[in-house]
Amino acid sequence: MTLRLHNTLTGAKDPFEPLEEDQVRMYTCGPTVWNFAHVGNLRAFLFYDIVRRHLQVSGYRVTHVMNLTDIDDRILDQAMHAGTTIGEYTKPYAAAFFEDMAALRAERAEQYPRATEHIPEMVEMIATLVANGNAYVADGDVYYRIASFPAYGALSHLDRAGLKAGARVASDKYDKEHVSDFALWKKAQPGDEKIGAAWDAPFGRGRPGWHIECSAMSKRYLGDTLDIHAGGVDLMFPHHENEIAQSEAANHKTYARVWLHSEHLADATGEKMSKSAGGFTTLRDLIDAGHDPLAIRFFLIANAHYRSRVRLSPEALHAAAEQVRRLREFTERVNRATPADSEDAEFAHRIEQVRAGYREALDDDLNLPQGVGLVFDLIREANAALDADRVGPNNKASLLELIDEVDAHLDVMRAEEPGLADEVERLIAEREAARKARDFARSDQIREDLRTRGIVLEDSKDGVRWRRVAPY
Ligand code: AMP
Ligand code: ZN
Repeated sequence: MTLRLHNTLTGAKDPFEPLEEDQVRMYTCGPTVWNFAHVGNLRAFLFYDIVRRHLQVSGYRVTHVMNLTDIDDRILDQAMHAGTTIGEYTKPYAAAFFEDMAALRAERAEQYPRATEHIPEMVEMIATLVANGNAYVADGDVYYRIASFPAYGALSHLDRAGLKAGARVASDKYDKEHVSDFALWKKAQPGDEKIGAAWDAPFGRGRPGWHIECSAMSKRYLGDTLDIHAGGVDLMFPHHENEIAQSEAANHKTYARVWLHSEHLADATGEKMSKSAGGFTTLRDLIDAGHDPLAIRFFLIANAHYRSRVRLSPEALHAAAEQVRRLREFTERVNRATPADSEDAEFAHRIEQVRAGYREALDDDLNLPQGVGLVFDLIREANAALDADRVGPNNKASLLELIDEVDAHLDVMRAEEPGLADEVERLIAEREAARKARDFARSDQIREDLRTRGIVLEDSKDGVRWRRVAPY
């Protein structure tokens, strides 16, 4: 079976085919670094991780770009309040985002472009849109003229009549021709200069609107047409509609062939978790409450299909921790098992059945929860077979292959072997001893070995500390 993905554009699970045979260009909307990411944001980012991993499992080379929005109204407000620049204000939150992603074992994207580092690309695209008549300048602001793009609304299957009906009410407040016209460029306001939030442009000094960054940066790194564009479902309208309107009017090419949208994470009350609504939980909060990042990862990717809502609760996290424990115990048991003298043909058949079923579940719009369900069924049977000494060498090898195939997505079974902390502490002590003995070759070697395993050492006033980052 080939990979089928639910494409928001067509509303159907379409067979996936990239433009180039073995290469996938994927753009995903990343974090706005005005604060720590909440667990809802992280659900979306881990969804991108599953898409990416399954494309790789399917044999594609993936070029994945995820933006960092480091300029928006909230960032401006916060930087002004803090009396600092937007660059300084966002720095720790950008760093925290990468730490969270590493703790959750998300694979790194190929590029993480930041909006403020791509202003020229945005200005160029806005200038093209103005020249083409798709945008207009109004008193130093630039707006996109929605009426110039008849396909507007196609992604979210939006009723254009509805868009117009609501239009007149508020339109007096703006210099816009139409209330749904959106800002591409915002005139610099007093105070913007001091916080480093104003740039020169042919239409006057100012800063970009939010939507243009994704169109400009995806073009810069992936070209005019993306194979996949993904984001949380809340971004479908207006953000993704606006991206399509900008890119297709500027480039005269299809912007994205497949649109994937992941559903929300709800908080304990069932409401969508959101920062503006106040009640949000960060990864740090959960870790401080004693939850294991592996269990959090498992909960976010495998508890429900990406197109269903899930509700965050301590019970759900405990259940996920228990499932991770069973998966890891099973992995260890199979690793340790001494094979029986003969193979069990029937069991061999069952393993192959589950391997095929797992693969089919993932190929069916990334149905990881279904695939994992099959694996848990097999674990019960395999434990019984191991108890009865019915697992031969080939049986064992197939089980290990299945474990690898499943862990290519889950990445919790072989991760972070127990006793790792002790081993790292021992290596840190050895490195300190080497440094005291001025054996810097040895101490550098230890640091480098740990780095390739995804552990960085940091000198602090309390001695050397270590933390996880993405391995290289
Ligand atoms: P933001 O940092 O607000 O720009 O959002 C980053 C990503 O998180 C986007 O893809 C959003 O769609 C997604 N997102 C925001 N809130 C939630 C939520 N409660 N559950 C799942 N995804 C969310
Ligand atoms: Zn975007």
